[in-house]
Amino acid sequence: MGKIKVSEDTYLVGVGVSPGISIGEVALIDNRVQIDDSLISPGSVGIEIERFHTAVDRAREQLGEIRSRVAGMPHLEEHLYILDTHLMILDDKMLVDASVSAIRNRLTADAAVKQVMEQLNQQFANIEDEYLRDRRSDIDAVGDRLLRILTGVRERSLSDIPGRSVIVAHDLSPAQTMQLDRELIFGFVTDKGGRTSHTAILARSLDIPAVVGLDSVTALVQERMPVIIDGSSGVVILRPSAATLAEYRRRKLNYESLEQELVAYRNLPARTSDGLEVPLRGNLELESEFELADKHAAAGIGLYRTEFLYLGRQEPPGEEEQFATYCKVLKAMDGQPVTIRTLDIGGDKFVQDLSLEDEPNPAMGLRAIRFSLREETLFRTQLRAILRASVFGRVRLLFPMVCGVSEIRSCKRILQEEREKLDQDGIAYTRNLEIGIMIETPSAVFAAHFLAREVDFFSIGTNDLIQYCLAADRGNEHVAYLYKPLHPAILRAIKMTCDAASAAGIDVCMCGEMAGEPLYTMLLVGLGLNELSMSPACVPRVKRVLRRISRQESDDLVDRLLTLPTSKDVAYQLDRTMRAKLPEIFDQPLI
Ligand code: PEP
Ligand code: MG
Repeated sequence: MGKIKVSEDTYLVGVGVSPGISIGEVALIDNRVQIDDSLISPGSVGIEIERFHTAVDRAREQLGEIRSRVAGMPHLEEHLYILDTHLMILDDKMLVDASVSAIRNRLTADAAVKQVMEQLNQQFANIEDEYLRDRRSDIDAVGDRLLRILTGVRERSLSDIPGRSVIVAHDLSPAQTMQLDRELIFGFVTDKGGRTSHTAILARSLDIPAVVGLDSVTALVQERMPVIIDGSSGVVILRPSAATLAEYRRRKLNYESLEQELVAYRNLPARTSDGLEVPLRGNLELESEFELADKHAAAGIGLYRTEFLYLGRQEPPGEEEQFATYCKVLKAMDGQPVTIRTLDIGGDKFVQDLSLEDEPNPAMGLRAIRFSLREETLFRTQLRAILRASVFGRVRLLFPMVCGVSEIRSCKRILQEEREKLDQDGIAYTRNLEIGIMIETPSAVFAAHFLAREVDFFSIGTNDLIQYCLAADRGNEHVAYLYKPLHPAILRAIKMTCDAASAAGIDVCMCGEMAGEPLYTMLLVGLGLNELSMSPACVPRVKRVLRRISRQESDDLVDRLLTLPTSKDVAYQLDRTMRAKLPEIFDQPLI
């Protein structure tokens, strides 16, 4: 297939998932295979089924080999679960049964695997939760491995990649990512993937800049083509001109010296110039990211998305397993608060098998606390594990997507019943555990005044709040232009929430993506947020801004911004104010 001719300075924009700038040359990894989709004769069905089973066995062997290699590498050991997840997918009865039945319908083994993988992928694509939706990458990785075995296409080994390489791939399997040599690989760029795909998570923990979700970058590049990637802004530049190269070398140096400078913020308090303390906490999805919280001196965990524990497995984690995991986290955070959010998923599919219940409108369906209140046994198990772990650190318990008072009362009733059972069993737990709710829906905002009397804290989830307030699906690219954090309605929703909390004397945290954007720090302080929780890597940048602003000027800024009618007006004013106030931070060219 001929490549499209790429002109000098071709800019592409994807999702920046691991910050930093890399300048290197393309090492193209094309994992895709050609599938034979002709119908087989009834007499060949047995042979194809045999071929399928042999491929599954071989895939298991390959993963086992990679697993034992990686097991000796300390920086990757914590990611072994990814390979275990892949082994589990291979053993999934539904995958095996559906593939065999597709072969019986006269598909070749490769076409059958492809069809079943597409079906699974489709089911995952409808999931509301971004993290879970991104788990499609695990299904793809297993499917691609099986297809390569079936079609005899070998995965390019990453051990022979030359130095200064920026890996460009349709998708990278986590197994491939784990084989990368950090000294030789300068960055990753992929067609597929999202912010929480495993490649993204691994790139962050390997500290390699990465941009994903570029759609068709593999169709544009050639082996050893010069490339620049900016993992912070998501910009990729193919065939950079001499001027662009010079500009990005300068930015790279700036970035690196800023990183150095930011280290100095580690031990400085997170407070405004006039003394208002605003704890900056970390958002975590994986246990392995706790190290990052420590590295960037996050003040504990403001959001622990426990969904991760339930993923890619046949059975939900039991009480003991959850208890052990929560204890590990609490011990690692050494007395700092750990806000454990109960399960936030959209259906019971992950805990029993890989098939999803179809919901016509999953964002408004049985997700988050609605799911937990329906699947009470699962909910009680999680609450019991959290209660038991609470004596090993400072736990704050957070319930997702609560829409009204009766929901939180139901949660508290169930929690109380579990406490009483623990009392009967003579098991210790922290009696005055702080309880909070996520404010993520317009109903929670409007009822904030009542809700604030029921709980010890609020946590605003702007990722969802914005989508529900503006009726704009956070994952739908067709309405992405409507997804505006600075919309006047959003500013008011945040302010109403903070005012209600303040009247009731409770704290408000913000743990949506908005909290990690330094451009918004002054606005958020002015709106009345008491704490901010973000990707740990964002903490030093937000702290740098926080320490330079005062409470009074933040309030003044909010007074001005609240008079503006459109998000564009708000964005313009905010940008102007921040550039004038902190030019060395905000007065940088955008691209
Ligand atoms: C949010 O909605 O802003 C949030 C933090 O929760 P999640 O992204 O997990 O839905
Ligand atoms: Mg949410």
